[in-house]
Amino acid sequence: MNGGPLEFHVAARSATTRARLGRITTPNGSFDTPAFMPVGTRGTVKGIPPNLVLETGAQIVLNNTYHLMLRPGSELIARLGGVHRFMNWPGPILTDSGGYQAFSLAQTNKVDADGVTFKSIVDGAMVRLTPERAMQVQNQLGADIIMALDDCPPSISPDAIAKTQRRDARLEGAVRRDQSRRAGYDHEARLNEANERTIRWLARCKVAHTRSADQALFGIIQGGTDLAKRSWCAERVCAIDLPGYAIGGVAVGESLEQIASVVSHTAPLMPDDKPRYLMGVGYERDLLAAVLAGVDMFDCVLPTRNGRNANAFTSGGQIRLRNSSFVADESPIEQGCDCHACDPGLYGWKTPDGLPFTRAYVRHLFMAGEMLGPILVSLHNLRHFQRFMLDIRNTIRDDDWPGLVGRWPVSAAGFPG
Ligand SMILES: [Zn+2]
Repeated sequence: MNGGPLEFHVAARSATTRARLGRITTPNGSFDTPAFMPVGTRGTVKGIPPNLVLETGAQIVLNNTYHLMLRPGSELIARLGGVHRFMNWPGPILTDSGGYQAFSLAQTNKVDADGVTFKSIVDGAMVRLTPERAMQVQNQLGADIIMALDDCPPSISPDAIAKTQRRDARLEGAVRRDQSRRAGYDHEARLNEANERTIRWLARCKVAHTRSADQALFGIIQGGTDLAKRSWCAERVCAIDLPGYAIGGVAVGESLEQIASVVSHTAPLMPDDKPRYLMGVGYERDLLAAVLAGVDMFDCVLPTRNGRNANAFTSGGQIRLRNSSFVADESPIEQGCDCHACDPGLYGWKTPDGLPFTRAYVRHLFMAGEMLGPILVSLHNLRHFQRFMLDIRNTIRDDDWPGLVGRWPVSAAGFPG
């Protein structure tokens, strides 16, 4: 480290796409990019001890500021030595600003020019989040990478939602809450307002950030699915000198095409010599499309959320392990996977005869409500995404993208060729 809180080194570039292979160094260690960050919502990647998270290949995890500030509180975590020590994670950590959850989870929230006020999901108390408070909380938590507070508008207008085939409760809720505060909702005006606030709040975050020597602050680009508004916001966010930048407000109900369009438009507008982070994305096809557009960092709750529900990711798509077709299935969750569940022998976890846990056994665990079921499928899913990213990083060197899609048919929709 030479002075700053973060170093980004690009080691190789794809000759035919915008993808780049790199390494990011923070005060708590380095990680390879493109990187997939498992989400440790409340200071834990649900059900998986940190040493096993490491063994899935994850080099950095994300914690949600919203949850940690409400319980147990960032002041307490600071007193106990910071979030690395608190959760016993030895590597880099990224915290989000808390804004996204304040906008999307809270039953009642009120956003104004200065911040957002919401009702705590823990004890019902009213909580105020301003740019200054978001920085104070994240300075106390002490993650290596911290995020600016941004205004997160609904990504799609109510008219567009009414036209879509797919119903998305969270998206509809976000629009409803937003509409309830004004007569005659104007989506375009709301996007403009959010963009302007996002810029003003970012400038205030930069001023309020007290640990710029050891915590890297990233700014976030908003703008919904409107590419001109994305350009407007990207230009102003990236004009503020920061160690990295992110694309926010994506994968909150839009179609695959809309996500790809926003990301492939916005990523090239971000500085080439700094990390680009796509927040909250996503499925393999979305990850691949974003890597090809030049994005370096990702986070998503899918591996553990779906793992807890018996949905296992495989190279060919998800399988539902509660399905009765697996009742006597003696194969591992996925043949060829080297995770703790599919190939425990690899990790010295010697099972009798070195055999994997069978789909039949994993299904039984879920049907019986046993804790080990969600743990095994979460481990498999976490490893699935790390294996996918590892293969992507190798592919950036040799540029054989059709080969990658052949090994991961599930990602095909993200490949334009
Ligand atoms: Zn596996």
